[in-house]
Amino acid sequence: MSKVRIYTLAKDLGVENARMLEILDGLGVSYKSVSSTIEEDTVELIKQILAEEQAEGTSAEATAEPTVQAPAEQATPEQPAAAPVPQAKAAPVTDAQGDGGTSEVPHRAPVVTIMGHVDHGKTSLLDYIRKTKVAAKEAGGITQHVGAFEAKTSKGKIVFIDTPGHEAFTTIRARGANVADIAIIVIAADDSLMPQTREAIAHAQAAKVPMIVAINKVDLPQADPERVKTDLTQLNLVPEEYGGDLVVVPVSARTGEGVEDLLEYISLTAELEDLRADPRAAFGGVVIEGKVDKQAGVLATVMVQEGTLHVGDFLVVGENYGKIKAMTDSAGARIKEAGPSTPVQILGFSEVPSSGEKVQSAKNEHAAREVVAGRVDTRRDAENARVQRRLTLEEMMGP
Ligand code: GDP
Ligand code: MG
Repeated sequence: MSKVRIYTLAKDLGVENARMLEILDGLGVSYKSVSSTIEEDTVELIKQILAEEQAEGTSAEATAEPTVQAPAEQATPEQPAAAPVPQAKAAPVTDAQGDGGTSEVPHRAPVVTIMGHVDHGKTSLLDYIRKTKVAAKEAGGITQHVGAFEAKTSKGKIVFIDTPGHEAFTTIRARGANVADIAIIVIAADDSLMPQTREAIAHAQAAKVPMIVAINKVDLPQADPERVKTDLTQLNLVPEEYGGDLVVVPVSARTGEGVEDLLEYISLTAELEDLRADPRAAFGGVVIEGKVDKQAGVLATVMVQEGTLHVGDFLVVGENYGKIKAMTDSAGARIKEAGPSTPVQILGFSEVPSSGEKVQSAKNEHAAREVVAGRVDTRRDAENARVQRRLTLEEMMGP
């Protein structure tokens, strides 16, 4: 044994990656990412530090190192009452500044979007992940296309937005919402960088979301992953193995090769992003897709970002409101409530909401109506002001 990767060591020692990086920072050891390797001497030092910490007892750790001992899974949306700290309710997410505050907000699953050039394999890759990682539930007939799905991996839940392509990503962003935490850029190994690949990269950079490159179709005899890496380097995106910090994972959506690694890298990236959301906060979400179903009526896929949705809740979207009559998860199963990072299909809106519209909840129907009325007023005032300005301008320009 000589060198070891940071995340491998973290896994072996049962420590979160973020904690491992903290220790390395403390030791003044430089690294590029969690997949960087460290020397044996450093490994020994880390083991000593962790051993000392443990000897000091767990009581101190409870406040100083919450990440070490509180697994994200502990605080599920289903158990909001299990908050161990009494002042938890008094410390809302947005006010959480100190370590004590943030540590109470539980982790949430990462939301991932897949972008890339046409025919490079976005749909195939999503299909493969869905087939292997999503336990199909009986939806009682037609499987509705929901626009997002939850994949269960050994590293926890990952939510994929499965309307691949930049349209979904950009329309949502154009409305000021950000749903994706991580962007996967798919590049075919036999084709390398194409115009839409560059566009996808530009979108991810503009949104400031971390990027992971999946070099797809490595099963093809003419696959040339090295060329893809060189081409990326020319865009100033330097793969880790060339000394940069871009994570590049060779995969095949056909054979499944590398897909497990890709999922692992997504989880590692998410862990470093330290994604959290409070299931007890006021509800906030974004519309992924809206549509009319011949039988069911208006259906909207909404990503829960903060808080928890319940059947019966009143929701406001733009200038419309609705009451949740029924909710299904992305596997088509009926659910009664849904916490952060859960895509749900909602029945209960009267108008089809558009992708990217923000959704919030209201206490009751009256409150929902008031919010809508307020928005209508604001829009009319703005319109009137515009008309007024135009009239004044015409007077000034007049004969
Ligand atoms: P998209 O336009 O990016 O969604 O690409 P698709 O998923 O529709 O794939 C385009 C074509 O490439 C299809 O014919 C797929 O069967 C094929 N394809 C996708 N992934 C792979 C792969 O890993 N290996 C091979 N050999 N073919 C693939
Ligand atoms: Mg496609």
